[in-house]
Amino acid sequence: LNDCASASAGLLFVGCGWADAALGAVQSGGAPKRREVAAGGRRIRTVDIHSHCYAAAAWELVKDHERENPLASPPGRRLASPDLTSVADRLSQMDEDGIDVQVLGVSPNWYWADRDLARQIIKIQNEKIAEVCAAHPERFVGLCAVALQHPDMAAQQLEEGAKKMGMRGAFIGGIVGHDELSAQKFHPFWAKAEELGSLIFIHPQAAQGFPEGTARYRRANGRDFVGVIGNPMDTTLALSHLIWDGTLDRFPGLKICAAHGGGYLASFIGRSDRSIEAGFSPAIPKLPSEYLKQLYFDTLVYTHEGLRHLIAEVGASQILLGTDFPSKWAPHPVDFILDAPGLSDADRRAILSGNAEKLLRMESKL
Ligand SMILES: [Zn+2]
Repeated sequence: LNDCASASAGLLFVGCGWADAALGAVQSGGAPKRREVAAGGRRIRTVDIHSHCYAAAAWELVKDHERENPLASPPGRRLASPDLTSVADRLSQMDEDGIDVQVLGVSPNWYWADRDLARQIIKIQNEKIAEVCAAHPERFVGLCAVALQHPDMAAQQLEEGAKKMGMRGAFIGGIVGHDELSAQKFHPFWAKAEELGSLIFIHPQAAQGFPEGTARYRRANGRDFVGVIGNPMDTTLALSHLIWDGTLDRFPGLKICAAHGGGYLASFIGRSDRSIEAGFSPAIPKLPSEYLKQLYFDTLVYTHEGLRHLIAEVGASQILLGTDFPSKWAPHPVDFILDAPGLSDADRRAILSGNAEKLLRMESKL
């Protein structure tokens, strides 16, 4: 807060409402003090691009579809993605972790639903997200839920979300039923996303995929191969289809951010390039590694060496802080970046704050 106040005397000419909100939380008593994050001696507004939530009111509409629903199986898993009625707990955890702004998104569990039911589910999710964002405008930014199995409706939901509900984009899965995200049927959705400048966050859902696609991950004797291997593979395939099938050429203005550092793609992008150079695969306008540089990725890569490599392939300008809240995949997400060797303070500010502020078109506070 002192940083904010002193900065106000100098460079700042906008309000420090988000810092005021922190003060309010402290003064209201009981709540732990909000951790304030700085990089290079400057307070920054940290933005978490990857968090999970859902609107409990939609549960009755989806609960019978257990296979498609990560919240229903295994028993108790539902608690791993807290509903939006427990916002105080969420804020408390954010304060402790040093997360100033959380981007809210719902893992799609409705890709099986017909138009009417999907419309109901999406309406409930989006209205709740918008309500929470409106109640805490300094702490939450919303990504729409969209019924991507009905692409025309999804495009409409994206537009309504952006224009009427203040949403900054959409949270989608890595595959929709059997259809890759590059399928022609999704062109209306991608066209709308490009037109609106919406951020599209792609999150894998290997646990909900079609049975023949996930069977191999399930032969794991209780070990989480679906989450450990299936999910990053799901993202790797989704991004590869968008690259190789021409979606990124057709819609070059798309702003796409992939969960878990984009899965395995950046780690092995040389093999994609080599396949084209050697003629094993048909040529595309650019090498896959070039397309990689126009995508965005969260920081959920777990080791500093993994982060170093991801940045080496795509650049610090393409990396955004992600926590996977409320899961424990990233126990100290902010420190992971602050402590990463080899980063400049400008890199840290970009990854923790600036890149997301730009992509989400958040008013600059510093
Ligand atoms: Zn996640």
